[in-house]
Amino acid sequence: MGFSLIYDLSFSELISLLAEWGEPVYRARQIWQGLYHNFWIAPNEFTTLPASLRLKLAKFLEFNILVPTTTLQSSDGDTVKTLFQLNDGKAIETVLMKYDPSAVLQLAQHEGAGKSRRTLCISTQVGCAMGCVFCATGQMGFKRHLSSGEIVAQVIYYARLLRDRGEVISNVVVMGMGEPFHNYDNTMSAIDRLNDPDGYNFGARRVTISTIGLVPVIHQFAAEKRQVNLAISLHAADDVLRTSMLPVNKRYPIDELLEACHDYVAATGRRITFEWALVNEVNDTPEQAHLLANLLKGLLCHVNAIPLNPTLGYSGKATTRQRAAKFKEILIHSGIPCTIRLRRGIDIKGGCGQLMSII
Ligand code: SAH
Ligand code: SF4
Repeated sequence: MGFSLIYDLSFSELISLLAEWGEPVYRARQIWQGLYHNFWIAPNEFTTLPASLRLKLAKFLEFNILVPTTTLQSSDGDTVKTLFQLNDGKAIETVLMKYDPSAVLQLAQHEGAGKSRRTLCISTQVGCAMGCVFCATGQMGFKRHLSSGEIVAQVIYYARLLRDRGEVISNVVVMGMGEPFHNYDNTMSAIDRLNDPDGYNFGARRVTISTIGLVPVIHQFAAEKRQVNLAISLHAADDVLRTSMLPVNKRYPIDELLEACHDYVAATGRRITFEWALVNEVNDTPEQAHLLANLLKGLLCHVNAIPLNPTLGYSGKATTRQRAAKFKEILIHSGIPCTIRLRRGIDIKGGCGQLMSII
């Protein structure tokens, strides 16, 4: 048999594998508990198993999936990012953000205001094929998809780290490197595995997945009626501007995207978040705000705008405080809820769109 990553296995796959080894189902359950309750990360930690089975695990399954090579902490202490090396030498980044109650109040209410939060931002690909001009991940191009296990392992790594400090992950955002809807099956099986009540039991409602707007996949996601929250990276309200920033808009223009969003809200009754990186005098104009308000009229949604984070390959600048305030005012005035989010983790290149395979 092949050499599988332990976190790539679903529970039923683990049961079959153990059956091949002549082991009963309860052994699979013990391993599952070890992985997703105790966050054991090496065969020798599985003290509930006989030594012979631990040896077999070590021989046939890969546990060392993500090797943390560098960890940086922002100067305010609220953002930490880790560069992980994968088995093939490629690398990804994962970001942990701490929100204290006062900061949370400034965020979207539906994200759990009033409580201290630990939000983990995970990656789904090495690089990204979508080529958005202002995004460092897009600037590095597409290297490969992550397997479901490589996605799951990012969460378990941090779950273990936080547990040792008496903390837990409160939210997972699939907003790191890569386009999750381009790697849909692996991303969804990762979320399902994290969701498993007999495993990590992380509620789908605490997961938010962000897409650049791959229309057919949004329809599929809508039809599946998952409880996972959906965010759409919109960034521009007309096709000419959006195509200049996000090449994928040529394939899936705004009207098709908005139709898919309406489909999603109709199918699920859930609110959509639209993300908007405010670039000075590009998409932070009153015209764009009015166009956006028109586009979103009648849709159950919320706009999360964030001043552009700097990346090496893009010369656009962040909006100013005044222009951002004006943008928000126009939306609010038109009845579209809008939050201007604080930039964070910029000093460690841990902000939105800043992640790469190197520190
Ligand atoms: N590929 C998905 C998931 C990544 S999420 C997506 O794009 O939605 C990363 C978020 O940061 C997206 O909303 C993305 O559009 C945004 N982003 C990218 N580059 C940015 C930058 N330089 N400044 C601020 N936000 C950025
Ligand atoms: Fe990919 Fe998202 Fe970056 Fe665009 S913004 S290049 S889709 S990671």
